[in-house]
Amino acid sequence: MSQTCRLLSAVVGKLHTGVLIVDEQLRICFINQWLQRVLHSQSPWRAEIPLLELLPELEGSRLLRAINQALQSGLPSVLSPSLNTQPLPLFNAQPNGLDSDEPQPLAHSLQVIPLRQDGLHHCLIAVTDLSSSMRRERLLKAQAEKLGHQSLTDALTGIANRRRMNNHLEEEVRRAARSYRPLSVILLDIDHFKLFNDRFGHLAGDECLIRMALSLQARVSRAGDLLARYGGEEFCVILPDTDGEAAQTFAESLRCKVESLNIEHPDNSCAPVVTISLGVASWLPGNPETPIGLLLKADNALYRAKQQGRNCALSHVSAATASD
Ligand code: GH3
Ligand code: MG
Ligand code: MG
Repeated sequence: MSQTCRLLSAVVGKLHTGVLIVDEQLRICFINQWLQRVLHSQSPWRAEIPLLELLPELEGSRLLRAINQALQSGLPSVLSPSLNTQPLPLFNAQPNGLDSDEPQPLAHSLQVIPLRQDGLHHCLIAVTDLSSSMRRERLLKAQAEKLGHQSLTDALTGIANRRRMNNHLEEEVRRAARSYRPLSVILLDIDHFKLFNDRFGHLAGDECLIRMALSLQARVSRAGDLLARYGGEEFCVILPDTDGEAAQTFAESLRCKVESLNIEHPDNSCAPVVTISLGVASWLPGNPETPIGLLLKADNALYRAKQQGRNCALSHVSAATASD
């Protein structure tokens, strides 16, 4: 062997990629070290071993057809992992050793390349290890999912944030219009929360917001219902398929729930504990309504609840009735 040939052979031996060469009789002429390490076969490797003796599972496979096509017609092909799962029985040479010592299947793609030289036909099967790129892809996907979740979640309380609420409300308004069903929203706001912070400190205020969110979340459990932190110490509840009367009853139950938490608030004007005021607005089938319009009506009702002494739930009424 010339020096260049020996050098090339050493280089191919060091590659972190697989090289397999078969002749026209489908005997293996060359297999590099990396591929020998990751290839699992029942028969031991020996020079010139027929491919199907080393890997009988290739009988009738897409890979064998591609090799025959390369040898007979000189046509190359690529076997990607998306269409051909595990075309070769390759396994991780170094199992991670964490969960088990079982070798893990090694994701790979293959290039089947015809080699024609000096009147001889050979076929080169080049194996690319895809495990690290697939690991990276899985990691990026998990990170994207996590970011997607974070972008719709309130960091303090863990419930839905305003963005998620806006999306949900738009969807539910459309659904209500389509199905000709009612829809209600409730806006609620902690009474005199500034005074609570002033007395107990901001951290205690945060703790109070978390407790409230958890206990409200436990009540808002029907499929399609959503509790969201609307901002600061305000929350919003979306209640599909719920008319004004049912929403008013539900709002009152939320008010009682918060009062029963018994969170001390000596500076509250309406009770010695933390309380909330609520505004309810409902959409009835047949009336044109926008998500913003509905929220404005609920906000209006909430404003009136504050004016009427707090710790109460009021429903939106039309301008004519409200001025009575
Ligand atoms: P009202 O009954 O009229 O709603 O009175 P209020 O004091 O609750 O309303 P105001 O708008 O004057 O004050 C809201 C307070 O809510 C002030 C602000 O510091 C507090 N707040 C808003 N977001 C947070 C938060 O994330 N953590 C804490 N601890 N406090 C918050
Ligand atoms: Mg407020
Ligand atoms: Mg408030």
